[in-house]
Amino acid sequence: MDKILRVDMGAEGGPKFKTEPVGEFAGLGGRAMTSAIISKEVHPLCHPLGAENKLVIAPGSLSGTSASMSGRISVGCKSPLTGGIKESNAGGQAAQVLARLGYAAIVLEGKPEGDDLYKIFISKDGVEVSVDNSLKNLPNYPLIEKLKGQYNDRAAYMTIGTAGEMKLLAASIACTDPEKRPTRHCGRGGTGAVMGAKRVKAIILDDTGMKMREPKDPEKFRNANRRFVEGLRKHPITGEGLPAYGTNVLTNVLNEAGAYPTHNFRTGRFENAANISGEVQAELEVKRGGIATHGCHRGCVIQCSGVYVDKDGKYVTKQPEYETVWAHGGNCGIDDLDVIARLDFLDDNFGVDTMDTGAAVGVAMEAGLIPFGDGAGAIRLVEEIGKGTPLGRILGCGAEVTGKVFGVERVPVVKGQAMAAYDPRSVMGIGVTYATTTQGADHTAGYSVGPNVLKSGGDLDPLKPEGQVEMSRNLQIATAAVDSTGMCLFIAFPLLDQPETFQALLDMIGAFHGITLTGDDVTALGKSILKMEREFNTRAGFTKHHDRLPRFFLKEPIPPHNVTFQVTDEDLDKVFNW
Ligand code: SF4
Repeated sequence: MDKILRVDMGAEGGPKFKTEPVGEFAGLGGRAMTSAIISKEVHPLCHPLGAENKLVIAPGSLSGTSASMSGRISVGCKSPLTGGIKESNAGGQAAQVLARLGYAAIVLEGKPEGDDLYKIFISKDGVEVSVDNSLKNLPNYPLIEKLKGQYNDRAAYMTIGTAGEMKLLAASIACTDPEKRPTRHCGRGGTGAVMGAKRVKAIILDDTGMKMREPKDPEKFRNANRRFVEGLRKHPITGEGLPAYGTNVLTNVLNEAGAYPTHNFRTGRFENAANISGEVQAELEVKRGGIATHGCHRGCVIQCSGVYVDKDGKYVTKQPEYETVWAHGGNCGIDDLDVIARLDFLDDNFGVDTMDTGAAVGVAMEAGLIPFGDGAGAIRLVEEIGKGTPLGRILGCGAEVTGKVFGVERVPVVKGQAMAAYDPRSVMGIGVTYATTTQGADHTAGYSVGPNVLKSGGDLDPLKPEGQVEMSRNLQIATAAVDSTGMCLFIAFPLLDQPETFQALLDMIGAFHGITLTGDDVTALGKSILKMEREFNTRAGFTKHHDRLPRFFLKEPIPPHNVTFQVTDEDLDKVFNW
């Protein structure tokens, strides 16, 4: 990974590309790379859909090696949804393939005149940027079917669906999984809209003829990877819960904790949650001939994913994740897994974030467009997004826009981005993360649900404000560092609970680069990323007043615990004091 590919989509006479040495960005991967380039090269006051914005695609620093779990790809830009810096990462095959091709990043710059649509093909033989207007208006599934016939079997694809072409604010970038299905999405923050603004419909990556990246010390690397995998397998969350039931194992847990946002964040318990739990979902998948344990990329040993089929055993979608099951399920009062699976497929096909879309549907229900619990109505609403109707475009711009258009006060967003499946009143630690992260409400930016509810990585009372700021701060720092390695964030559970597994990861990174790495180095990396991101957001106009939850979380107690969010503004302002 010693080079960066820059494609100027707005060059005179048509797109031009050049490959340059990685230079000052050497050694960076994933989020560290995307945020460094965006901070340095993008004007913070630019229009996110304009020529001045850039879309940076970067594999993690361990991607393309034999390190387990290292296949996350990061995409960064100024977000059209939040107006701040954005890093959104996904699984799928793209990171491993791009890293083996030797690219530390692809940077899409500029913006073409006219309405031609482009595809970019990258292989060991070089780069081709070509017009392909036959791809216009294709949703992700038919798009991949069409492209698959034209490229090598090894190719990985990063694409936008119709939502990206329409530049909708919740548009995602799809990454194909090992079965070449467009199921893994850089979902958050409207990265797909930025790719659409640059008129790039598909990036095709083919690593035929390329080899794995070799560590400096192969023996130490292999040994560390073995210890790392042992650590993943012995931890109850990554070794048992996630492989057996997927992320949706959390439905019953969060519902029991009274922290499961229901009916657009009105209550913390959904009476029909058991119908859509991970346990029921896995049983149904296996009974119907689907798959309950599956990796979203080769090299994943946790395998939290799966394949959801209908009652005749026909493919519907990948196993919907907990956040999706919640956003389209309990959040909207829907308790039918087949309806939720259909909505998940529609989101992936049109290319929109399942969380912001589910939250938008919840807000639309609050506005009275359809009643809570109306599954068929929810499907009709999401289909409007694919059709590009005015209503569909509103919903495809996420919960905040939907709330503004329909005059709804209860809109669960921070910095324009929808919250996830944890109510910040009954999990106060996640409220601190939602409020303060550079990314807009994003549970993954500092997953305080671990110490608050799962009792992993610490033990804090979720209903009390004490200790939450410090916990969120530490988790945000650690997450920024993990997001730079290409490692799936689920490794954080054993890393935080088992010192020997954390040491194994340090040893693995160290053996790869031929250095000795310490925990302090990881902390320093995480802090440096957050500092860059905070500074970008400040220059984009964000102040401490943007690090706040919507006021209804401070005014409306949530049943069953009847609590409000109690972390003070003064304490929220201390998150980045280190
Ligand atoms: S644990 Fe799940 S999300 Fe993470 S890499 Fe594996 S399948 Fe993908």
